[in-house]
Amino acid sequence: MKTIGLIGGMSWESSRLYYELINKQVKTVLGGFHSAKSVMISVDFDEIAKLQSKNDWESLNQLMVIAAKQLENAGADMVLVCANTMHLCSKAIIKNSSLPFVHIAEATGEAIKENSLKKVALLGTKFTMEKDFYKDILTNDFGIEVLIPDLKSRDLVHDIIYKELVLGKINNASKEIYLKIINDLISQGAEGIILGCTEIPLLISEEDVRVPIFNTAKIHAKKAVQFALKKR
Ligand code: GLU
Repeated sequence: MKTIGLIGGMSWESSRLYYELINKQVKTVLGGFHSAKSVMISVDFDEIAKLQSKNDWESLNQLMVIAAKQLENAGADMVLVCANTMHLCSKAIIKNSSLPFVHIAEATGEAIKENSLKKVALLGTKFTMEKDFYKDILTNDFGIEVLIPDLKSRDLVHDIIYKELVLGKINNASKEIYLKIINDLISQGAEGIILGCTEIPLLISEEDVRVPIFNTAKIHAKKAVQFALKKR
């Protein structure tokens, strides 16, 4: 079994889900006492969030490259960034680390393809919804059309992530807001909903939505385990 390397703390509320997900998945596949071999480098999210809000992606790239090197030194066999947004730094990590990089948007694109969906909606931080780094992979590599909410809804989705979910606050009123936005996107033709922020599953689950939802943390963790258990 290969050792899964995780860059976590973005936020720790979702990193602990990753830890649980990779271990449960290894147990599902191998059974018995089996659990995932893993290393996590966990950063201080306050530092990350401040740099994000200043759009200082150069400094964020440097922090992510340092974390990837720490994973390498700790014996990891791959790198996962346990957040969608911070995949904005994926090119810098891939360029500066010799470890294979397990990309969350690629894993999500594969999962959507397996469900034969052509048009999906993406919820996440404004960075993930508005910038191209995520949507381009889905569209160019997987031929998936990606809808995003209107500006007002994007602000709501983003603010709930940063003011509540990353702090572990779960509010029913916020859930209602998300469900209304999701239903609007479904009426615009979305055949599935990407929970493109690793904390959204704390608020929204499969039973809440009448089309398939794509829990990116779960998909990403599963992909890592598949890679860790691959024979060669
Ligand atoms: N975990 C989040 C994501 O998946 C948001 C926090 C962050 O900005 O990294 O995008």
